[in-house]
Amino acid sequence: MPGRFKVAICGAGISGLVAAVSLSKYDDIDVDIYEGASKLAEVGAGVGMFPRPWRILENIGVDEDLLRTTPVRPKTGPVPSWIYRKADGEEGIEFFTLTMQGSFIPLHRPTFQNVLVRHLPSHYKLHTSKRLTSYTQTPDGVIIHFEDGSTATCDVLLAADGLKSAARTQFLKELAEKATTTEKADKLLSCIDPVWSGLVTYRALIPAEKLRELSPDHRALEHEIQYMGKDGIVVGYPIMNGTVINFVAYVARFELEGTPYNGSWSQEVDVAEFASTFAHWEPEVQSLIQCVENPSRWAIHTVKPLETFVSGRVALLGDAAHAMTPNQGSGAGQAAEDAYIAAAVLGHPSTNKENSEKALHVYDAVRRPFAQDVVEKSRFAARISTLNWPEEISRTVDNLETMDLKLEALSRLAKKSREDWEWAWLTTLDDDVERANHMLLSF
Ligand SMILES: Cc1cc2nc3c(=O)[nH]c(=O)nc-3n(C[C@H](O)[C@H](O)[C@H](O)COP(=O)(O)OP(=O)(O)OC[C@H]3O[C@@H](n4cnc5c(N)ncnc54)[C@H](O)[C@@H]3O)c2cc1C
Repeated sequence: MPGRFKVAICGAGISGLVAAVSLSKYDDIDVDIYEGASKLAEVGAGVGMFPRPWRILENIGVDEDLLRTTPVRPKTGPVPSWIYRKADGEEGIEFFTLTMQGSFIPLHRPTFQNVLVRHLPSHYKLHTSKRLTSYTQTPDGVIIHFEDGSTATCDVLLAADGLKSAARTQFLKELAEKATTTEKADKLLSCIDPVWSGLVTYRALIPAEKLRELSPDHRALEHEIQYMGKDGIVVGYPIMNGTVINFVAYVARFELEGTPYNGSWSQEVDVAEFASTFAHWEPEVQSLIQCVENPSRWAIHTVKPLETFVSGRVALLGDAAHAMTPNQGSGAGQAAEDAYIAAAVLGHPSTNKENSEKALHVYDAVRRPFAQDVVEKSRFAARISTLNWPEEISRTVDNLETMDLKLEALSRLAKKSREDWEWAWLTTLDDDVERANHMLLSF
């Protein structure tokens, strides 16, 4: 028997798959997933979950399978997590340990996706090599156009096709056509292309054994650690049951934020491309860099703040809606939140095909302000960790004469970092779900 309505999800990344697993709670909604790639990625980097998004993974029942892939056990109460070191000198200065309420759960992205796929009900179809190029909205629903010339129809389209979202292009063109002034239309169209954040990251997975041989007591073998310095960060933490260290080095040129990035947005590079930037950093950083093989460079792009995540029966999710800098480790978490709330409003007993557009507006009202605030906080987090902000601290810390003064200045910086980040472990999504339910009842 056909369900209440038919949802198509374009993109089988974190947001698309969490949406699908979340929707599977409602057995009267038909779901098809269309993924542009011919198969899901088998290689990829680490991605961490803070307590707030982790609750979603518990709620949808994928947590136990995910925990089999990591040595970290979720705890409640105060949990020491990220270590901060000022590392851009011969000797590092350890100045802070971020204590969260609950654990940061490090995961390997392809493993994460595979676990989600395993939790899809057997009647859900995951169609691969189905790259959305555009869509058309009709009074009766949405027609999706794929690169291979085929089409599919649905009542609601959840566009989860990532940073370079083709759905977002169509979405913004559609809104621009309806705009009442040219200025408004131009503003909408200016959000189609992602913008460069001024950050470039170099990512690699390091075999833990290799690092242990070189540096048996290296902190990154056991801890999440941020080595910070002027215009750079090196991040390391164990994933895959501690067998692999997720490595990310950042180089910041914020004066270039918003300018076009010259070069490929992601490509394999030589270690030499970034090693010299960190050559004067402390020995622990050198050990990590020495262990890096086959790094890839990612120019970090973000999506400008959109006026809405919803147009008719189409909703943007995850990076398609609000790609952010990775400095609060929250892009995937926010993608999961979008997915969970979108599924909650669509699955609500009062939602049907006819009022699904209104339900999506509830998704927009609940999710957009929160996600866009996280985008902004992540932008500032990048500046804090690269000692670019707050200016009164970052400008002076190297000139302070005593270690006590340096530590005092750095602890003020750490306090700012913690205050901006606390939402990720001090708040839960429960209030948002409740608010969404309340809004749905006022239909
Ligand atoms: C260096 C770095 C570190 C990060 N660390 C963290 C972290 O620790 N924690 C965290 O929460 N986040 C982190 N993130 C962010 C996180 O990776 C992203 O925000 C998250 O993956 C977004 O998920 P998504 O599903 O929206 O998009 P994606 O994961 O990009 O998935 C999009 C999917 O859509 C498919 N697709 C693309 N175009 C089409 C199309 N036209 N039609 C159909 N399918 C299509 C793609 O193949 C892909 O499968 C990090 C990002 C970076 C760059």
